[in-house]
Amino acid sequence: MVNVRFIERRGAVLTPSGLACLAGVPTVNISSGCAHGCVYCYGRGYSQYPGEGTVLVYRDTAARAERELARKHRKPTAAYFCPSCDAFQPVEAVLEETYRTMRVLFEAGVGVEFVTKGAVPGRFLDLFSRHPGRVSAQVGVTTLDDSLRAALEPGAAPVGERLLNISRLKDAGVSVAVRADPLIYGVTDGDSGLAALMAACRERGVTDVAASYLFLRPAVTAGLKHHLVDRELLQRILAPYAEGHRFQLRGGAGGGLALPQPIRRAGFTRLRQLAAKHGVHVHLCGCKNPDLTAERCHLTRAAAPQQAASTDQRLLWDARSPSGG
Ligand code: SF4
Repeated sequence: MVNVRFIERRGAVLTPSGLACLAGVPTVNISSGCAHGCVYCYGRGYSQYPGEGTVLVYRDTAARAERELARKHRKPTAAYFCPSCDAFQPVEAVLEETYRTMRVLFEAGVGVEFVTKGAVPGRFLDLFSRHPGRVSAQVGVTTLDDSLRAALEPGAAPVGERLLNISRLKDAGVSVAVRADPLIYGVTDGDSGLAALMAACRERGVTDVAASYLFLRPAVTAGLKHHLVDRELLQRILAPYAEGHRFQLRGGAGGGLALPQPIRRAGFTRLRQLAAKHGVHVHLCGCKNPDLTAERCHLTRAAAPQQAASTDQRLLWDARSPSGG
């Protein structure tokens, strides 16, 4: 049971992010806290985190965004939802404020980009279909095993719902990729599971997958220990980090403990080989793997204006980045 309350926002709605992959793209948080309750959620370590089982919805986000945009001489190409929560978590107040805010952005000529593990309601699909070329989505899926998904992401949409999301979003004219992040070594990165995931992507016309492995911060480790009742699974997840690699995220958004480099390198190589068999292209997250790659996971498409001639192309996955290969 999630405790939902409204709060006043301190500061602007459209805010810059410290993540390099979000450079140049304003971000919007609809809430503090997230009803999806993923056991590995990085949000637990953020200063605004309201505590387990609580979602604080920022009041009047749409109206405030409208006023902020009216004051801007130069509008952004797009805004990204949401760095600290999920815009499509199953909380009606969040969905309503998300809908109003996205509508305000579209009316101001600003595109919308998001990553979600939630179910996207039909009214959003109608809205997106009225703004072709202006919406770019990453649907988070790391496993097709729904019991594993339920253990790791208990409040998020079931796997089948997310696969349906992909098809429905594409039908609505949205540019869609899959986000296989965070992969968990020895748990969600087995050959058969990854091959099935790549096949499911291809069957739905998805040719781009962003990927990275889980990295640890104290709040993430605490969340895993608190939520994972399966202690054998917990041990399997944490053990490889005993020899982990300390790193700083590109862009200056702090750091963490990553898997040892050889494990990540081998895992990404395997993933790429499996993906290639299905004609799927893997984009690694260079922010979380600065020791391995300078690639971009394309959390947003709008951050790289040099990659496409037109604004609309910048929001589409078809416009390949040089670093994406
Ligand atoms: S969907 Fe994202 S923000 Fe929400 S609980 Fe999961 S990891 Fe955290």
